[in-house]
Amino acid sequence: MERVRIVSLKGIRKRQSAAIHAGQMEAARVWTACRDAHLAARQEHGKWPNRDALQKATKGRFALHSQSVQMVTHAFLANVDTAQQLRNQGRAEIRYPYKDKTFYPLMWPAQAMHLEDKRMVLPMGRGRPSLILPKPEWLDQPCACKIVWNGLHNELHISVAEDTEEAPLLEPTHKHATVDLGQIQQAAVATNEGDALIVSGRGIRSLKRQHSKQLGEIASKRSRCQKGSRRWRKLGKTRAKLTLRYERRVRDLRHKGTRQVMDFCKEREVESVFVGNPDGVRRKNSGRHHNQRMSQWEYGKDIDYLQQKSEQDRIVCFTGDERGTSSRCPVCGHRHKPKGRNWRCKACGFEGHRDIVGAVNMHPIAYGQVVPFPKRITYLRPGNLRRSSSPGTGHRPDPSGRRCLAEARNQAPQDVCAGSLEHAHELCHSARSLPALAG
Ligand SMILES: [Zn+2]
Repeated sequence: MERVRIVSLKGIRKRQSAAIHAGQMEAARVWTACRDAHLAARQEHGKWPNRDALQKATKGRFALHSQSVQMVTHAFLANVDTAQQLRNQGRAEIRYPYKDKTFYPLMWPAQAMHLEDKRMVLPMGRGRPSLILPKPEWLDQPCACKIVWNGLHNELHISVAEDTEEAPLLEPTHKHATVDLGQIQQAAVATNEGDALIVSGRGIRSLKRQHSKQLGEIASKRSRCQKGSRRWRKLGKTRAKLTLRYERRVRDLRHKGTRQVMDFCKEREVESVFVGNPDGVRRKNSGRHHNQRMSQWEYGKDIDYLQQKSEQDRIVCFTGDERGTSSRCPVCGHRHKPKGRNWRCKACGFEGHRDIVGAVNMHPIAYGQVVPFPKRITYLRPGNLRRSSSPGTGHRPDPSGRRCLAEARNQAPQDVCAGSLEHAHELCHSARSLPALAG
């Protein structure tokens, strides 16, 4: 397994950051040259340039280390491949690389990196001084790396190969789980043995709202400045800083939430997990507001993280279409679009949590097995969110939790089984935040 470790290059010498800057612009020129070659071939209906052709066409023309140039051509071809695959799947709106790039990350393969006692030497091509950076202590062998601009400063991304121990063969347990990803709830999990978990997505959503509000404030301040002025630049820097912090926070919560899902599965000795892929739902055109919400939903990351974590935990993980799973009654199969968090069947009177309904309905698709609706539902929220909820506005959880519990009982009586305060608060919150989102 490969893992990317990030080293900040904040505070390196001016001369070096100028060299990186120039190198990134040169790498962008390599990209543009590849784009031109590819575009010309496409327009003339000729043979598309392959690896060899691009390497030959770019050889010796650019002020970079030869292998850095090759890495750009490889990245370009990988990009073309992905676009081609997507287009073959019927996504005609996907374009082959067409943009002019101004900057592109500087990349080196493992064999280009030289390690010395305390330094790491990255060659910049013949006749140019190499980049010399302090060697991180954990780095003991040359690794592929790239220098990426994060909006505020450069970062060195080093991909470290991690040796994975031999997987011990596990006894088949025939325990399966399905995961329904959502926006209001990050994930709803149902096992075939009547256990269910709901991981709240409230933290991520509130961070998202806070961030877009901050961006709006900065944009309005910036619109009153002269473009390029000191204040204008300062605001741009603040924006980059806030965005970086926001991304770190969201990533943290996402990891914590998916970790909770995998821990839940591990505890119950689940051997295989099916993750519903909401691609179909997302691409459907359902109006401006809904579309915007859908495009901001980063379920691809949730799927990625779940796959990584399942690999670590030796659980099989696969994905598939989840279309229609949230609008069918798990008892009688009656179809209707649910409103709110609670799923109520008009035909047979069944009632249950909407996201769990989605997860339960995935069992027949993924494993060909109809499972009963879970009796036990665990509610978790990733990270400590108490601090981020601003006091004074909205709902303040009462310390006794009695009110929450009562409200939760009204909301979904069968869900309140353990009677834990945490879980009652959660219900209460999710019920409250609904009108704002469902509208
Ligand atoms: Zn029904």
